[in-house]
Amino acid sequence: MTISAHLAQVREGIALAARAAGREPDSVCLLAVSKTFGPEAVIEAADAGQRDFGENYVQEALDKIAAVKARRADLDLIWHFIGPLQSNKTRLVAEQVDWVHSVDRIKIAQRLSDQRPTNLPPLNICLQVNVSGEASKSGVAPGELQTLAAALLSLPRLRLRGLMAIPEPEADPVLQRRPFALLRDLQRQLSAAGILTDTLSMGMSSDMAAAIAEGATIVRIGTAIFGQRDYEK
Ligand SMILES: *Cc1c(COP(=O)(O)O)cnc(C)c1O
Repeated sequence: MTISAHLAQVREGIALAARAAGREPDSVCLLAVSKTFGPEAVIEAADAGQRDFGENYVQEALDKIAAVKARRADLDLIWHFIGPLQSNKTRLVAEQVDWVHSVDRIKIAQRLSDQRPTNLPPLNICLQVNVSGEASKSGVAPGELQTLAAALLSLPRLRLRGLMAIPEPEADPVLQRRPFALLRDLQRQLSAAGILTDTLSMGMSSDMAAAIAEGATIVRIGTAIFGQRDYEK
């Protein structure tokens, strides 16, 4: 099957899951995760109407963004950085992408704000939350989320959009919903504390429907669009 056919299938799956949850299909943004696939795959997806793309390795993201721009200046794509971010790599990310989903400490946020070029709009930020306890090393602990969110609000070149999580893999669709429900609850707690956000970045190829049932506004889908990744290449 082509990328275009896969995309149509994923969009249909989003619409079904949204309607089942009493939501409008267009309340869920599809983020196509193109990591390990080349610029030609991005261009093929873009020509099939896909606009948002996610990458999680800094150098690969920068090379791909440049390659796509060089080949197709007509495409107006939105790039999201969703991977682990070290402080020595923040500058190019701040200059080249529209969103960062993986902020989990103030030092990274501070650098992104300082380094965001003034001719660009503020960088959209999701705070990555560790919803899996000790099983995961990335993400702010739920108990520290509010302090981090409040600190982020004072950084002028960032716009806090919401929360992101990558739960541990879980096959049971009922159990899949728990960490997503937790993330939604944390968003509500922020809102009760006066910190309003509009984004829940959660759900991947194997748990997209569960995430949408719990309120995902961005689903990050790689395999179901581009196929299995080959990390050897
Ligand atoms: C790779 C990746 C995805 C996409 O995963 P699939 O299972 O291929 O859909 C989503 N989010 C993050 C953070 C990723 O690293």
